[in-house]
Amino acid sequence: MGPIAVAIHGGCGTLARDLQGEAQWEETRQHLAASLRAAWAILRSGGRALDAVEAAVVVLEDSPHFNAGYGAALTEAGDHELDASIMDGATLAAGGVCAVRTLRNPVRAARAVMERSDCVLITGPAADEFGRRCGLDVVPNDHFTTARRVEALAALKARARRGTIVPASEAERHGTVGAVALDREGHLAAATSTGGFNNKPSGRVGDSPIVGAGTYARDGVCAVSGTGQGEIFMRRVAAYDVAARMRYGGASLDEATRAVVFEDLHSHGIGAGLVAVDAGGGIVAPYNTLGMARGWIGADAAVRVGTHAEMIEMGAA
Ligand code: ASP
Repeated sequence: MGPIAVAIHGGCGTLARDLQGEAQWEETRQHLAASLRAAWAILRSGGRALDAVEAAVVVLEDSPHFNAGYGAALTEAGDHELDASIMDGATLAAGGVCAVRTLRNPVRAARAVMERSDCVLITGPAADEFGRRCGLDVVPNDHFTTARRVEALAALKARARRGTIVPASEAERHGTVGAVALDREGHLAAATSTGGFNNKPSGRVGDSPIVGAGTYARDGVCAVSGTGQGEIFMRRVAAYDVAARMRYGGASLDEATRAVVFEDLHSHGIGAGLVAVDAGGGIVAPYNTLGMARGWIGADAAVRVGTHAEMIEMGAA
């Protein structure tokens, strides 16, 4: 029996600490811990990494604190279009959905695409319909709306009307949730889910549902889930590039992820982060922004979460 591990992120667009009350930060940490515990319960009882990453992402999608599912960013039209994917490192099977509007947990739809269709990616109304036919929870589009996103969209539009050239902050721009895991059988899996970014054009699709860009898993190598401007992750094939650096270049998980985040992605001037786990249960969570909601449970079975520089222990798993 090998080691087990799980790591999650809640996006690299963390607000500055003083822009939110301590009660909100504490609730954010609690939701991160709940996500980790959901995954750990599966891994500890011998369950699959694939089930663990799905369970972890569902908890984050249902939390208003992250840009995925409930609490997702709004498009320029003022509604939600959600993207998600999941990948099984054991078989390289993968599934994704883009621009879904009515499925409460897009990651479940991604899993259904992987297991119950011959496709890897299904988009738009067809993806909503596919999820509905698979028996997934259907909600009205405004189920996903929170006051924070409505305010952020209004502020961005007001700035655009005034012609203010102040660029959007990382917190206004980014968010996404993701999970990576290693199970007792040595299988790796990754999943990612997002609302994209505030004020995104309708129909825009980012890296999160794209295998190799925002999500990648391959047994014996690593599992990766990214956050940051998806266009650059796609152009860099960032998640796959981490795996390629390890597989072909002999890099360690740490070397590979640092090169991708702090050199390649950073060279485009974007905020970026990711979580990744390797075949030995090693965990990394590099980011180049002010903070990144994140957490992990590794060999010592302690739950660790953080939103800014420091990590906080939330007790045993
Ligand atoms: N990667 C996501 C996207 O481009 C957004 C983010 O993580 O900030 O859709």
